[in-house]
Amino acid sequence: MKTIIVGAGLCGSLLAVRLAQRGHNVVMYEKRDDMRKASNDSGRSINLALSARGLMALERVGLKKTIVEDCIPMKGRLIHPLGGDTFLSPYSGRDEDYINSVSRSGLNILLLNEAEKLSNVEIKFDYNVTDVDLSKAHIKGIDMGGNEFTDDADLVIGTDGAGSVVRRSMMSQTTKLLFNYSQDFLRHGYKELSILPADGGAFKIEKNVLHIWPRGHFMIIALPNLDGSFTLTMFHPYEGETGFNTLDTKDKVKAMFEKYYSDLLPFIPHYLDEYFENAVGTLGTIKAYPWQAYGKTLIMGDAAHAIVPFYGQGMNASFEDVRVFDDMLDLYGDDYEKVLFNFQESRKENADAIADLAIDNFYEMRDHVDDKAFMLKRKLEMQLEQNYSDYYSKYSLVTFRPELDYNTAMLLGRQQDKLLLGIVEKESSDWNLADVMSQIKNLHTNFNNESRK
Ligand SMILES: Cc1cc2nc3c(=O)[nH]c(=O)nc-3n(C[C@H](O)[C@H](O)[C@H](O)COP(=O)(O)OP(=O)(O)OC[C@H]3O[C@@H](n4cnc5c(N)ncnc54)[C@H](O)[C@@H]3O)c2cc1C
Repeated sequence: MKTIIVGAGLCGSLLAVRLAQRGHNVVMYEKRDDMRKASNDSGRSINLALSARGLMALERVGLKKTIVEDCIPMKGRLIHPLGGDTFLSPYSGRDEDYINSVSRSGLNILLLNEAEKLSNVEIKFDYNVTDVDLSKAHIKGIDMGGNEFTDDADLVIGTDGAGSVVRRSMMSQTTKLLFNYSQDFLRHGYKELSILPADGGAFKIEKNVLHIWPRGHFMIIALPNLDGSFTLTMFHPYEGETGFNTLDTKDKVKAMFEKYYSDLLPFIPHYLDEYFENAVGTLGTIKAYPWQAYGKTLIMGDAAHAIVPFYGQGMNASFEDVRVFDDMLDLYGDDYEKVLFNFQESRKENADAIADLAIDNFYEMRDHVDDKAFMLKRKLEMQLEQNYSDYYSKYSLVTFRPELDYNTAMLLGRQQDKLLLGIVEKESSDWNLADVMSQIKNLHTNFNNESRK
């Protein structure tokens, strides 16, 4: 069995490891040069939040333990309100539930190294795939010397990210495949800045949290790196007083930071240089269907479902794709029509669910993390999680319960949110936890009965 993987990013590299472990002959094509030789990360987030779904997939290939050693646990969001005192909003009432800051390139390199250890994996860097003959599992492209190349396999899997060429080949057969596609850009973009380590590699601000400076319609977040630095990401609109298009001179940028982020300024003396050196990235949601064609070609990861980064789940969902694909191979063996079709059917509604949750979280992180009803609901959720082992908030269902699919986590989580918001609106403290929990249990019973119908 020969499988061509297009794109050696996070999803493709993990997939290559898993398929090779199963005995496939894998040839992976990557349009960029080998990231182990050169840094080609410009404009991308340089660290990511890795959580239970991603870890479960990494465990499948035997790499969870190794990767966790290179992670920094983040136990909650440390909120820096404008003009107020910082406060911690834990991710969960359970100590064992936290997310991890991991280096994007570190993780990708580790996966590439693991893939290359396997004799049945070949990785071709600087090979730009330009077209796929979907029913024949045949690819065409251009190599680094400008020469055309072709290759054939039993199966082609496109893990070539949000701008996927494999997906574009599917789109060229729109009517035949009844191919649906949507792309929604946010009117916000992102730009990365950094806090450098203190002398000796110490962290200048709290290490084990995800920092947020929420400012209503825009915000900055920060994730820690192993060397003591932090990667800051500005999520700002393109237009308006604080928009990237408006902030085009040093004076304007300085005035904006002094007005909205004065508490951050002592930690980022070099921010003006970085602001003008680093590009603005776009943020969008891509939905497509179908994900497979003729039992021969498949897309997964961002190629099938690019989402905005506000739930920290894009990579986790892409890794989960690999685990579910592996489950489908267990279930349907060499019947690739069934493997591809059932993978697509089981993943599509879950990819749509996490896409919608990620948009919801954009508004929550930006506008609500420091609002009163939201903070009261979080307080009640914490108390429930601390006292009841079977209670999980919506965030915890999505982030810490990888055995539940995203769609179930979303539907159940939204119903719980509605119930808890109703409770905190009536009573702002001294909740009767036993009573709240019994209402949650009723909600679960109804939810399970409805799902069975
Ligand atoms: C600002 C930001 C922050 C994020 N934070 C998080 C987070 O905290 N947690 C999280 O889980 N996710 C996060 N994500 C999402 C995450 O980055 C993506 O979901 C993840 O990278 C998807 O992996 P992928 O392998 O599918 O695609 P990619 O990482 O985009 O990899 C695609 C690969 O395919 C290659 N390629 C493309 N076209 C071709 C071609 N024609 N021929 C050959 N090769 C090709 C590319 O060079 C690339 O190497 C974030 C995203 C952004 C933008």
